[in-house]
Amino acid sequence: MYGYLNAVVINSFDLGETDRVYVVFSDLLGRLSLIQRRGGLIKNPNSGVLNNFNLVRIFISREGNALNFYIKETELLDDFTKIKDSFEKFFYTGYILYVLNSIFKESSEEEGLYKLLIRLMKIIDGKTDLDLAFLKDVFLWKLSGILGYLPRLENCSVCSRELKEPPRTFSVSSGGLVCKDCLNTVPVARTLSQGSLNFIRRIFNTGINSLTSLRYTALAEKELSGLSEEYLRYYSDRDLQNSSIFLNGIKV
Ligand SMILES: [Zn+2]
Repeated sequence: MYGYLNAVVINSFDLGETDRVYVVFSDLLGRLSLIQRRGGLIKNPNSGVLNNFNLVRIFISREGNALNFYIKETELLDDFTKIKDSFEKFFYTGYILYVLNSIFKESSEEEGLYKLLIRLMKIIDGKTDLDLAFLKDVFLWKLSGILGYLPRLENCSVCSRELKEPPRTFSVSSGGLVCKDCLNTVPVARTLSQGSLNFIRRIFNTGINSLTSLRYTALAEKELSGLSEEYLRYYSDRDLQNSSIFLNGIKV
Protein backbone atom coordinates (compact mmCIF):
# COMPACT_ATOMS: atom_id res chain seq x y z
CA MET A 1 0.00 0.00 0.00
CA TYR A 2 1.43 3.37 -0.96
CA GLY A 3 0.49 6.87 -2.07
CA TYR A 4 0.92 10.61 -1.67
CA LEU A 5 -0.23 12.70 1.28
CA ASN A 6 -0.11 16.42 1.95
CA ALA A 7 0.61 17.08 5.60
CA VAL A 8 1.81 19.54 8.24
CA VAL A 9 4.65 18.24 10.41
CA ILE A 10 3.67 18.53 14.08
CA ASN A 11 6.64 16.96 15.82
CA SER A 12 9.34 14.32 15.45
CA PHE A 13 11.50 12.07 17.63
CA ASP A 14 14.12 9.36 17.27
CA LEU A 15 13.06 5.74 17.19
CA GLY A 16 15.91 3.51 18.21
CA GLU A 17 19.30 4.35 16.77
CA THR A 18 18.47 4.47 13.10
CA ASP A 19 14.89 5.59 12.53
CA ARG A 20 12.93 8.77 13.15
CA VAL A 21 9.17 9.18 13.68
CA TYR A 22 7.35 12.20 12.22
CA VAL A 23 3.93 13.05 13.61
CA VAL A 24 1.92 14.87 10.94
CA PHE A 25 -1.62 16.09 10.31
CA SER A 26 -2.53 15.02 6.77
CA ASP A 27 -5.29 15.57 4.25
CA LEU A 28 -6.26 11.92 3.74
CA LEU A 29 -5.52 10.22 7.05
CA GLY A 30 -5.63 13.00 9.66
CA ARG A 31 -3.07 12.64 12.44
CA LEU A 32 -0.46 10.08 11.51
CA SER A 33 2.93 8.82 12.69
CA LEU A 34 5.33 8.12 9.84
CA ILE A 35 8.70 6.41 10.08
CA GLN A 36 11.73 7.61 8.20
CA ARG A 37 14.57 5.14 7.96
CA ARG A 38 18.00 6.71 7.89
CA GLY A 39 19.03 6.53 4.29
CA GLY A 40 15.54 5.34 3.46
CA LEU A 41 14.69 8.44 1.46
CA ILE A 42 15.00 8.14 -2.26
CA LYS A 43 15.10 11.91 -2.69
CA ASN A 44 15.92 14.73 -0.27
CA PRO A 45 18.37 12.92 1.97
CA ASN A 46 18.53 16.15 4.00
CA SER A 47 15.42 15.96 6.08
CA GLY A 48 15.15 19.75 6.54
CA VAL A 49 12.03 19.33 4.43
CA LEU A 50 10.44 17.59 7.41
CA ASN A 51 11.05 20.38 9.92
CA ASN A 52 8.23 21.07 12.36
CA PHE A 53 5.38 23.25 11.04
CA ASN A 54 6.36 22.64 7.38
CA LEU A 55 3.69 21.76 4.83
CA VAL A 56 5.00 18.84 2.81
CA ARG A 57 3.97 16.35 0.17
CA ILE A 58 5.04 12.87 1.22
CA PHE A 59 5.12 9.57 -0.62
CA ILE A 60 4.43 6.82 1.91
CA SER A 61 4.40 3.07 1.71
CA ARG A 62 3.39 0.23 3.95
CA GLU A 63 5.50 -2.87 3.67
CA GLY A 64 3.87 -6.27 3.68
CA ASN A 65 1.43 -6.62 6.56
CA ALA A 66 3.21 -4.03 8.69
CA LEU A 67 1.02 -1.44 10.40
CA ASN A 68 3.56 1.35 10.06
CA PHE A 69 3.83 3.79 7.19
CA TYR A 70 7.32 4.59 5.91
CA ILE A 71 8.39 7.86 4.29
CA LYS A 72 9.84 7.31 0.82
CA GLU A 73 9.91 10.77 -0.77
CA THR A 74 9.30 14.30 0.45
CA GLU A 75 8.70 17.64 -1.20
CA LEU A 76 8.44 20.98 0.60
CA LEU A 77 5.24 22.90 -0.25
CA ASP A 78 5.41 25.75 2.31
CA ASP A 79 7.77 26.37 5.22
CA PHE A 80 5.71 29.21 6.80
CA THR A 81 8.79 31.31 7.52
CA LYS A 82 6.85 34.25 8.95
CA ILE A 83 5.22 32.00 11.52
CA LYS A 84 8.65 30.79 12.61
CA ASP A 85 10.05 34.32 12.73
CA SER A 86 7.41 35.66 15.11
CA PHE A 87 7.15 34.43 18.68
CA GLU A 88 3.43 35.25 18.82
CA LYS A 89 2.61 33.54 15.51
CA PHE A 90 4.75 30.55 16.51
CA PHE A 91 3.02 30.30 19.89
CA TYR A 92 -0.54 30.35 18.54
CA THR A 93 0.21 28.02 15.61
CA GLY A 94 1.98 25.66 18.01
CA TYR A 95 -1.06 25.66 20.31
CA ILE A 96 -3.37 24.78 17.38
CA LEU A 97 -1.12 21.87 16.34
CA TYR A 98 -0.85 20.78 19.98
CA VAL A 99 -4.66 20.59 20.22
CA LEU A 100 -4.86 18.47 17.05
CA ASN A 101 -2.10 16.24 18.35
CA SER A 102 -3.91 15.83 21.69
CA ILE A 103 -7.42 15.20 20.38
CA PHE A 104 -6.92 12.89 17.42
CA LYS A 105 -5.77 9.31 17.45
CA GLU A 106 -3.93 7.74 14.56
CA SER A 107 -5.52 7.76 11.12
CA SER A 108 -8.63 9.80 11.74
CA GLU A 109 -10.09 10.99 8.46
CA GLU A 110 -10.66 14.72 8.81
CA GLU A 111 -10.21 16.34 5.41
CA GLY A 112 -12.40 19.36 6.30
CA LEU A 113 -10.27 19.98 9.34
CA TYR A 114 -7.06 19.70 7.33
CA LYS A 115 -8.34 22.37 4.93
CA LEU A 116 -9.26 24.62 7.86
CA LEU A 117 -5.78 24.14 9.38
CA ILE A 118 -3.96 24.99 6.14
CA ARG A 119 -6.13 28.03 5.44
CA LEU A 120 -5.54 29.30 8.96
CA MET A 121 -1.76 28.72 8.80
CA LYS A 122 -1.55 30.57 5.48
CA ILE A 123 -3.51 33.49 6.95
CA ILE A 124 -1.30 33.61 10.06
CA ASP A 125 1.82 33.38 7.88
CA GLY A 126 0.74 35.93 5.28
CA LYS A 127 -0.95 38.70 7.22
CA THR A 128 0.05 41.16 9.86
CA ASP A 129 -2.25 42.94 12.29
CA LEU A 130 -4.23 39.80 13.13
CA ASP A 131 -5.99 39.19 16.44
CA LEU A 132 -4.34 35.81 17.00
CA ALA A 133 -6.17 35.15 20.27
CA PHE A 134 -9.43 35.55 18.37
CA LEU A 135 -8.25 33.33 15.49
CA LYS A 136 -7.22 30.64 17.97
CA ASP A 137 -10.77 30.74 19.39
CA VAL A 138 -12.15 30.59 15.82
CA PHE A 139 -10.21 27.38 15.30
CA LEU A 140 -11.26 25.83 18.62
CA TRP A 141 -14.96 26.64 18.16
CA LYS A 142 -14.98 25.41 14.57
CA LEU A 143 -13.18 22.25 15.70
CA SER A 144 -15.91 21.66 18.32
CA GLY A 145 -18.46 22.02 15.51
CA ILE A 146 -16.58 19.62 13.22
CA LEU A 147 -16.46 17.09 16.06
CA GLY A 148 -20.26 17.34 16.30
CA TYR A 149 -20.58 19.57 19.37
CA LEU A 150 -22.08 22.73 17.93
CA PRO A 151 -23.22 24.88 20.87
CA ARG A 152 -26.93 25.80 20.97
CA LEU A 153 -27.19 29.57 20.73
CA GLU A 154 -30.79 30.22 19.65
CA ASN A 155 -32.66 27.91 22.03
CA CYS A 156 -32.15 26.89 25.63
CA SER A 157 -29.75 23.95 25.66
CA VAL A 158 -31.69 22.33 28.52
CA CYS A 159 -35.42 22.79 27.70
CA SER A 160 -35.12 23.87 24.01
CA ARG A 161 -37.28 26.97 24.52
CA GLU A 162 -36.53 29.74 22.05
CA LEU A 163 -34.47 32.49 23.66
CA LYS A 164 -35.52 36.01 22.78
CA GLU A 165 -34.67 38.04 25.87
CA PRO A 166 -31.57 38.28 28.07
CA PRO A 167 -29.97 36.93 30.22
CA ARG A 168 -27.53 35.31 27.83
CA THR A 169 -26.05 32.67 30.05
CA PHE A 170 -23.75 30.04 28.59
CA SER A 171 -23.20 26.63 30.17
CA VAL A 172 -20.43 24.38 28.89
CA SER A 173 -21.88 21.18 30.35
CA SER A 174 -25.35 21.68 28.87
CA GLY A 175 -23.87 22.72 25.51
CA GLY A 176 -24.95 26.31 24.97
CA LEU A 177 -27.24 29.05 26.27
CA VAL A 178 -29.54 28.42 29.21
CA CYS A 179 -32.87 30.14 29.95
CA LYS A 180 -33.76 31.70 33.33
CA ASP A 181 -35.89 28.74 34.38
CA CYS A 182 -33.18 26.17 33.70
CA LEU A 183 -30.28 28.08 35.27
CA ASN A 184 -30.55 26.20 38.57
CA THR A 185 -30.16 22.86 36.75
CA VAL A 186 -26.62 23.59 35.47
CA PRO A 187 -23.58 23.61 37.77
CA VAL A 188 -21.68 26.57 36.29
CA ALA A 189 -22.64 29.19 33.75
CA ARG A 190 -21.19 32.47 32.56
CA THR A 191 -23.11 35.55 31.49
CA LEU A 192 -22.26 36.91 28.05
CA SER A 193 -22.98 40.34 26.59
CA GLN A 194 -24.82 40.51 23.28
CA GLY A 195 -21.51 41.51 21.65
CA SER A 196 -19.70 38.40 22.89
CA LEU A 197 -22.55 36.17 21.78
CA ASN A 198 -22.42 37.80 18.34
CA PHE A 199 -18.71 36.89 18.09
CA ILE A 200 -19.51 33.20 18.71
CA ARG A 201 -22.43 33.30 16.24
CA ARG A 202 -20.26 34.89 13.55
CA ILE A 203 -17.54 32.26 14.04
CA PHE A 204 -20.03 29.50 13.26
CA ASN A 205 -21.89 31.31 10.48
CA THR A 206 -18.92 32.75 8.57
CA GLY A 207 -16.04 31.31 6.53
CA ILE A 208 -12.60 31.84 7.97
CA ASN A 209 -11.47 34.33 5.31
CA SER A 210 -14.23 36.72 6.37
CA LEU A 211 -13.13 36.52 10.01
CA THR A 212 -9.51 37.59 9.65
CA SER A 213 -10.22 41.32 9.87
CA LEU A 214 -12.27 40.90 13.05
CA ARG A 215 -10.80 41.82 16.42
CA TYR A 216 -12.18 41.08 19.86
CA THR A 217 -13.53 44.02 21.80
CA ALA A 218 -11.99 44.29 25.27
CA LEU A 219 -15.29 43.13 26.81
CA ALA A 220 -15.65 40.12 24.47
CA GLU A 221 -12.04 39.11 25.08
CA LYS A 222 -12.63 39.18 28.85
CA GLU A 223 -16.00 37.41 28.74
CA LEU A 224 -14.92 34.72 26.28
CA SER A 225 -11.48 34.15 27.80
CA GLY A 226 -10.79 30.41 28.00
CA LEU A 227 -14.37 29.47 27.03
CA SER A 228 -13.47 27.83 23.68
CA GLU A 229 -10.77 25.70 25.39
CA GLU A 230 -13.10 24.80 28.26
CA TYR A 231 -15.83 23.77 25.81
CA LEU A 232 -13.54 21.68 23.60
CA ARG A 233 -11.88 20.10 26.65
CA TYR A 234 -15.28 19.12 28.09
CA TYR A 235 -16.52 17.48 24.88
CA SER A 236 -13.28 15.96 23.60
CA ASP A 237 -12.42 14.69 27.09
CA ARG A 238 -8.79 15.73 26.59
CA ASP A 239 -6.57 17.80 28.82
CA LEU A 240 -5.57 20.83 26.72
CA GLN A 241 -3.68 22.64 29.45
CA ASN A 242 -0.14 21.41 29.01
CA SER A 243 0.76 23.08 25.74
CA SER A 244 3.82 24.74 27.31
CA ILE A 245 5.47 21.33 27.80
CA PHE A 246 4.69 20.47 24.18
CA LEU A 247 5.89 23.80 22.84
CA ASN A 248 9.12 23.65 24.84
CA GLY A 249 9.86 20.31 23.19
CA ILE A 250 9.47 21.70 19.69
CA LYS A 251 12.38 23.17 17.84
CA VAL A 252 11.82 24.81 14.51
ZN1 LIG B 1 -34.57 26.26 29.53
